[in-house]
Order: sequence, then C-alpha cells, then structure tokens
Amino acid sequence: MNFIILTLFPEAFESYFKISLIKRAVKKRLIKLQLVNLRDYAKDNHKTVDGRPYGGGAGMVLRVDILDRALRDLKSKVKSQRSKVVLLSPQGKKFDQKLALKLSHLRTLILICGRYEGFDERIRKLVDLEVSLGDFVLTGGEIPAMAVLDTVARLVPGVVGKEASLDEESFSDNLLEYPQYTRPEVYSAKGGSASGGKKMRVPKVLLSGDHKKIAQWRKKESLKRTKKRRPDLLKV
Ligand code: SAM
Repeated sequence: MNFIILTLFPEAFESYFKISLIKRAVKKRLIKLQLVNLRDYAKDNHKTVDGRPYGGGAGMVLRVDILDRALRDLKSKVKSQRSKVVLLSPQGKKFDQKLALKLSHLRTLILICGRYEGFDERIRKLVDLEVSLGDFVLTGGEIPAMAVLDTVARLVPGVVGKEASLDEESFSDNLLEYPQYTRPEVYSAKGGSASGGKKMRVPKVLLSGDHKKIAQWRKKESLKRTKKRRPDLLKV
C-alpha cells in the first residue's frame, strides 16, 4: 500500500518513519511512504501556499489553487483506481478502527495535512473524505496523519508479525482487549495510587497452561472491561 503525505513539514515525519514497525514494513516493501512538500507547488519566489481569509479574521488559510495543482500532479502518477484523498480536519468524520480497516484495502492513500487557521472551503470539494482525530484542535495535520498512517499500516497484511494478534486487539469485534500480564508473578508496587502497596498477583488461570480456559477467561474479561469502560461499543 502507498501512502502519500502532503505537508508543509515533511521533516516532522522523518524520525517516525525510521523506527520499529513502520521502518520494517517499508523495508519489506509492504508499504511505501512518500512525503510531498506543499510548497513545491507554489508558483512565486516566496513559495506562498496560504492567504488571508476574505472577510477578515485571524490567521491564514491554505489556498485551493496550490492544493488543486498538487493533487492533480500526484493523482496523475497514481495508476490504481483504489485510491482516496483524505483531508485531516477537526471537522471531519471521527477516525476509528473500522475506518482504518476500510482505508487499509486501498492501494494508495493521500493524506493532506492542514496548518494555520485551516483551508479554503473549496478544498473540501477536491477530497474524498475529511477525517478528524477527535474533538480537539491541533496545530497541524501532521500528528493526525501519522496516527492514521500508523493505524492503517498495521492492518496491511504482513505488517504486524503475528496477524492473529490483530484479531484480539481492542476494537476488533467491538471489544476492548483483555488484561495482559508478564513477569514478575507477584508484585508489590512502591508507587501508584490504586495498588496501596498490596501484593498484585497474575490471575491463576494465565499460569495454568490450559489454553481453552485461558481463551474463555480472556473473552469474559474482554466483555467485562468493554461493558465497564466503553458500553457504547456494545450497542453497535
Ligand atoms: N480553524 C480550524 C477549525 O476551527 O476547524 C482548525 C485549524 S488547525 C489549527 C490546523 C490544521 O490542523 C487543520 O487544518 C487540520 O489539518 C489539523 N487538525 C487540527 N486538529 C485536528 C483534528 N482533531 N483532527 C484532524 N486534523 C486536525
């Protein structure tokens, strides 16, 4: 799968692309990442990509002509029909695992990172989808683009080593993941408000070696946890 990211700050992505799962996925050619600087599509010597809003008001907005030029150029190089242009915006559809799964079936995903006060309204007509990370306002679309890219890339076959682990992760089947433990078997925390210095033990069933019982316990805990923390997920 190809990810093309249109941004004014390509350098914001560079260190993230050099680590862990994303780095391995690129190396294995499971995903391809292309960073495109929006300023490359500006026409003047100052590489201007924004302008003052008509009617007045604070800040600057991204220009429609610059983005149109960029998208026409990038789309002319994308051969597959299975491509989508996503605009990162706090006014968009809230991003979730279901949307990530849909996007992971694409061949090419073009992500547009906004900046400043936002963008010229006409830009909305040039994209397939507007996506929000949540009900809060960030300085730019780079962090949301990274979040979308990371979530979608994990769903591309082969990117996460053990694919079975994806089926049990939070939000698959509309459930939160069950509790996980590792060594030591018993621990008395010195810090933390909830433990109060008490011995915290790993549930016995997880040490039993009985895989059927473990699977049942996990399913039950998953459901219990979802009911308590996110009952909304069970109503879908
Ligand atoms: N004035 C805009 C508004 O009220 O809708 C917010 C502009 S914000 C400072 C600049 C850019 O950051 C946006 O164009 C968008 O690309 C990105 N951004 C900020 N918050 C976001 C969110 N919750 N989800 C996705 N993108 C966001």
